[in-house]
Amino acid sequence: MFQKILIANRGEIALRVLRACKELGIQTVVVHSTADADAMHVRLADESVCIGPPPSRDSYLNIHQIVAACEITGADAVHPGYGFLSENAKFADILAAHNITFIGPSGDHIRIMGDKIEAKRTAKRLGIPVVPGSDGAVTEEKEAGRIAAEIGYPVIIKASAGGGGRGMKVAHTEADLEIALQTARSEAGAAFGDDAVYIEKYLEKPRHIEVQVFGDGFGGGVHFGERDCSLQRRHQKVWEEANSPALNAEERSRIGGICAKAIADLGYSGAGTIEFLYENGEFYFIEMNTRLQVEHPVTEAITGIDLVHEQIRVASGGGLSVKQEDIKFTGHAIECRINAEDPRTFTPSPGTITHFHTPGGLGIRVDSGVYSGYKIPPYYDSLIGKLIVHGRNRVECMMRLRRALDEFVVDGIKTTLPLFRDLVGNADIANGDYDIHWLEKYLAQSE
Ligand code: ADP
Repeated sequence: MFQKILIANRGEIALRVLRACKELGIQTVVVHSTADADAMHVRLADESVCIGPPPSRDSYLNIHQIVAACEITGADAVHPGYGFLSENAKFADILAAHNITFIGPSGDHIRIMGDKIEAKRTAKRLGIPVVPGSDGAVTEEKEAGRIAAEIGYPVIIKASAGGGGRGMKVAHTEADLEIALQTARSEAGAAFGDDAVYIEKYLEKPRHIEVQVFGDGFGGGVHFGERDCSLQRRHQKVWEEANSPALNAEERSRIGGICAKAIADLGYSGAGTIEFLYENGEFYFIEMNTRLQVEHPVTEAITGIDLVHEQIRVASGGGLSVKQEDIKFTGHAIECRINAEDPRTFTPSPGTITHFHTPGGLGIRVDSGVYSGYKIPPYYDSLIGKLIVHGRNRVECMMRLRRALDEFVVDGIKTTLPLFRDLVGNADIANGDYDIHWLEKYLAQSE
């Protein structure tokens, strides 16, 4: 087991990882920018190292500084959290070259899944169902036209190097195709420095369902069920559930089994998420994330297993603490992402939190790094906390969520709490009857 882990992140996830380390009796080092000197994870860590000024590229993305912080403090492993350097293959390789363990998969696996064309090709080879589309990059309009006609309109043009929902364009008819191809390519070139794009069938009313997988580091793979993350705004997840209201136990074990086997065949190590669009009973792979996800707590709630403990165990060579047959899904869990944003316009609302009171009671978990008097710096993303609620079934979970949202107090800034108070009373949400476009339509109607 590791003696000392350096946490290369900030906010709620830094605190989340720190808690897991403490429980395992591992010393912690956190790195932080000058803007985060008062952050909770800095206060609670055994050691902290200031690695630079507020902009992420000078601090949380500064590989040299982070490696230097490992050497100064004698950390033997790095947990990257999510975002920042968590899917940076070069970072994983550099740590390996310094004999420091990256708590995550190999640089090569990160590289494969970071290139969407390569990821899709790999998924197909491993027997994972994919969205019908081009086999690789498409540059010529003629070729694009041929493929689109074959799979049928509407189609979506996506950037191979894409991420965060950027670099995607939909063509509803042949007349839209040329312009969609051109704009997608130029946007991809400008945003990612790589203008390779590919074509897929555009699914009109899918749900976003993702499977949590783990490679044990010895060639074995398991799945921890799925999460339904269909409630999105601008392709950003807002509310996540486990299990998905749309799947039954048989579908869960079928897709889970396919994913677990794929992970084993790939020789993948650590936590990963295989993302699908789900429509008319079919799954279509869209991408794989090679890290811990923001929404991992809903999986922890229904399985009772600490996924960060498992990440640390696997990275240290100790394998998983559970086998597939030990992983049971109990009850239902929902996570709401609480952002420091205007609940209508979603413009960021940094500033000082004058009062912060979190709900409590059975089945309630709040993961947050903020506190009363905390000043939210304007430099980073606006997630200030996650409310995760567990109940014996979805109805009980929703009742408890409504009550918890009523108790939650965040004064001094605007937050997305009022949006969740609206959603929890909505009939479609109560019925679990929504797809990936539902939230955008709902927001447009209530304007
Ligand atoms: P990113 O890495 O940028 O998040 P993804 O491939 O995960 O890109 O897609 C993000 C979102 O875009 C999906 O959750 C879905 O809402 C939409 N999307 C992607 N591919 C398709 C498709 N073939 N049909 C319909 N919607 C899609």
